[in-house]
Amino acid sequence: MAKVFLNEIEDGLDVKNIFCIGRNYAAHAIELGNKIEDSPIIFLKPTSSINTNSKIVLPDISSDIHYETELIILIGKDGKNIPESDYESYIEGYGIGLDLTARDIQSQAKKNGHPWTLSKGFDGAACVSRFLRAPQLQNHNSCSFTMKINGNLKQIGNTENMLFKIPFLIAYLSKHFSLSRGDLIYTGTPEGVGRLTSGDHLELELDKKLLANFHVA
Ligand code: ZN
Repeated sequence: MAKVFLNEIEDGLDVKNIFCIGRNYAAHAIELGNKIEDSPIIFLKPTSSINTNSKIVLPDISSDIHYETELIILIGKDGKNIPESDYESYIEGYGIGLDLTARDIQSQAKKNGHPWTLSKGFDGAACVSRFLRAPQLQNHNSCSFTMKINGNLKQIGNTENMLFKIPFLIAYLSKHFSLSRGDLIYTGTPEGVGRLTSGDHLELELDKKLLANFHVA
């Protein structure tokens, strides 16, 4: 069973569903030549894709693995049809991580109208930090996050630039699915995505409070 870790729960929390939001920042949608959507694009990753280690192993299915740095929500209690006004009571914590994407496989899938699962769901494709407890990120609707590779700033995001914001995402997802304690929500990436190379050292930072490091083997 895949687990994620919060401060104070050393033995971790079992991961249930992994929901991901596509094209949630306008500048990123545009950089990949996609249009801005009227409702969120939702896709799933299998729990076997979770990586809480600091090592990234590039899979041999692809020659173009991209990083996508994203704020990740950890759901703390079960819910269905959650009103936007009540979203906060369902959030256990916030993390930062990478929605790794085999861009070559995804491009082919998009061309053929096929699902994205093979490009988004491989082992290790859901990299995740430890989680901050929700009260430690009161400003989650306007907090910044960054990602550097080998010391160079590659992505900078702020959740206030989300096209679909956190209260809406919780309400929307819980209308379509039952949410469970242990669900993760990858909330989308800002612009600046690109290819990972063996030897890269990645530093992710969330609101100057949470740091995560990943090394590409
Ligand atoms: Zn993504």
